[in-house]
Amino acid sequence: RRSSILSKRCIPAVLALPRNLSSLVTGDAAFLEAVDIYYDKAAALASPTPDILAQIKGCNNILKVQFPLKCSDGTVELIEAYRAQHSHHRMPVKGGIRMAPNVDAEETMALAALMTFKCALVDIPFGGAKGGIKIGGNDPYPAKYSTGEKEAIIRRYTSELVKKNFIGPAIDVPAPDYGTGSQEMAWIKDTYEHLQSTDINGTACVTGKPLEEGGIHGRQEATGLGVFFCLREFLDDEGLISKLQMKPGIEGKTIIVQGFGNVGQHTIDCIEDAGGRIIAIAEKDGGVVDETGKGLNIKEVKDYFKRKGTITGFPKGSTVEDSSKILELPCDVLIPAALESQIHSGNASFIQARIIAEAANGPVTPAAEAILEKRGVVILPDLLLNAGGVTVSYFEWLKNLNHIHFGRMSRRMEERGKRVFLEALELEFGNGNRLSDELRRELVKGNTEVDFVWSGLEETMLVAWDKVKAVAAKKGCNFRTAAYLIAIERIATCYKVSGIFP
Ligand code: GLU
Repeated sequence: RRSSILSKRCIPAVLALPRNLSSLVTGDAAFLEAVDIYYDKAAALASPTPDILAQIKGCNNILKVQFPLKCSDGTVELIEAYRAQHSHHRMPVKGGIRMAPNVDAEETMALAALMTFKCALVDIPFGGAKGGIKIGGNDPYPAKYSTGEKEAIIRRYTSELVKKNFIGPAIDVPAPDYGTGSQEMAWIKDTYEHLQSTDINGTACVTGKPLEEGGIHGRQEATGLGVFFCLREFLDDEGLISKLQMKPGIEGKTIIVQGFGNVGQHTIDCIEDAGGRIIAIAEKDGGVVDETGKGLNIKEVKDYFKRKGTITGFPKGSTVEDSSKILELPCDVLIPAALESQIHSGNASFIQARIIAEAANGPVTPAAEAILEKRGVVILPDLLLNAGGVTVSYFEWLKNLNHIHFGRMSRRMEERGKRVFLEALELEFGNGNRLSDELRRELVKGNTEVDFVWSGLEETMLVAWDKVKAVAAKKGCNFRTAAYLIAIERIATCYKVSGIFP
């Protein structure tokens, strides 16, 4: 299916530059191949027949479009973009849109497959999809393009999706991913509604929108919060944690995060509030390492980042130019929260973390996983860890289809809900200080939408984690294989019951 050239072009030009390129070329699978390897490993333990397993594995549709962008300096740039729909066993299909220089068809298909398995694992009734827009120049994308240019790219991309029937509340629902956020989602919604003005559910054509445009409270925090919930559960599990000769609990644990985008920042917030120590952060242009021994003060890092557009040079930490070195520092937990293939056969043996929590999609290659597992490193897999984003996207989609927000109920119910929720928070967290300031303000106002999102997300993550843990124990496999296995069995049931059309 893939040429050998493609399978050798394995590591995108991203954060961590490979320590030894030659070992990568021979030792690491390309991203799509890596997803297939992980799939096959679980499929070998799964009950479905080979034809069903083959149906589930492959990508159903891949759309490639190319269109011109009129740049502000009068030149014209050709933009190449994709939308992959991996599986339609549930509709609509769902997944973010990425804007980055290294986007291609294979990466988009790999990410779409991960969406299929992720949604099945957390029991969210969507098939998997992903979009990618290949933008020129260097990362990060906002630096190169003006706001007007970005808007033009997104609107044209959306119109291509509409023309080809690749977007719609019942068809395919995009969301943010690397390089996109709520502003891009607002442009998508607006373009869609202009072109499909009779679609009464138009608002549900995309999730991750700003609140004023039909978004939902907590969507921005959702992925990070989900990462945190799972990591907390793992660290609190005495049986599992004692195997690593570590003390249970997140408090005092040393943690390194790669990526200071939406996912990285919210994961860090939750960890800091729970008493974990963020001892280093890696970004594409370098990283910072704590020097106080107490962990970085994240509010200060964020303020600095807002002012300077970089974390490098943060005065209360030491700057490391080569951010790949940061991944190799000693710590309890390493959280890759950026791009795929960051931990590969070239650097896996230098990683000193005991636990890797995959907030990004596909950050560890199969070759790296083998090296790490031989050394007893535990990997908490992407399918589970970052599923919080699409979970809250699901709530947003439901809210849009219902044409009502979750807080619209009688005051008496709101008051009661608020009291019960605050009591539960009190019990569990002491003072509920893991909520972001914005969410806390909404909660105090009695916003039941916040209650709904927070509790719905936590429940979803915990149910999925319990299942992954149980299957891993029963089958004697790692958490990743367990997660894939659960997903495969669920999707297979769908295929079997639906039969084949025509
Ligand atoms: N881009 C996110 C992911 O990789 C969210 C997808 C969504 O909300 O549809 O899971």
